[in-house]
Amino acid sequence: MNAFDIRIIGDPVLREVADDVTDIDGSLVRVADGMVEAMYAHDGLAVAAPQVGVRKRVVVYQLPDQDDPITIVNPRIVEHGDDTWSYHEGCLSIPGLYWDIVRPKQVHVVGLDLDGNEVSLEADELAARMFQHEIDHLDGVLMTERLDDDQAAEAKRAVRELMLARSEPA
Ligand code: ZN
Repeated sequence: MNAFDIRIIGDPVLREVADDVTDIDGSLVRVADGMVEAMYAHDGLAVAAPQVGVRKRVVVYQLPDQDDPITIVNPRIVEHGDDTWSYHEGCLSIPGLYWDIVRPKQVHVVGLDLDGNEVSLEADELAARMFQHEIDHLDGVLMTERLDDDQAAEAKRAVRELMLARSEPA
């Protein structure tokens, strides 16, 4: 396995709560660079550190309207709006499976950039969804835990098939 391969559902690291970053140093920057590489390699919009096996609260993202990747350290949702919306959501750690998931439409996110400066972002729609999905990863929560009961039953089967397919020798 390469250092920054994306971990797939079933990997215990995806279920752990990541630690706050206390030092923003060269090794953290290297982790962020590797996460960006993994994001590009898999055509993802974002990657959370646990998805590359690193138990730290770091997220990289690059939404369609952004020219460059952005890293946020210790991101935290401090407020969310009352409006919700549904979106056909996917996850690099659950490849090929998508579900319509309802989440708040707007969130206010705070955190740090890689220089240690505080950032405060009002995120809407896709950006808001991305932050919620990625911060869930930092808490060991996968999108399969955001499904309604009907979806959850079907998801269980689909995820089992996915894990089985991936465990078979190529
Ligand atoms: Zn994900």
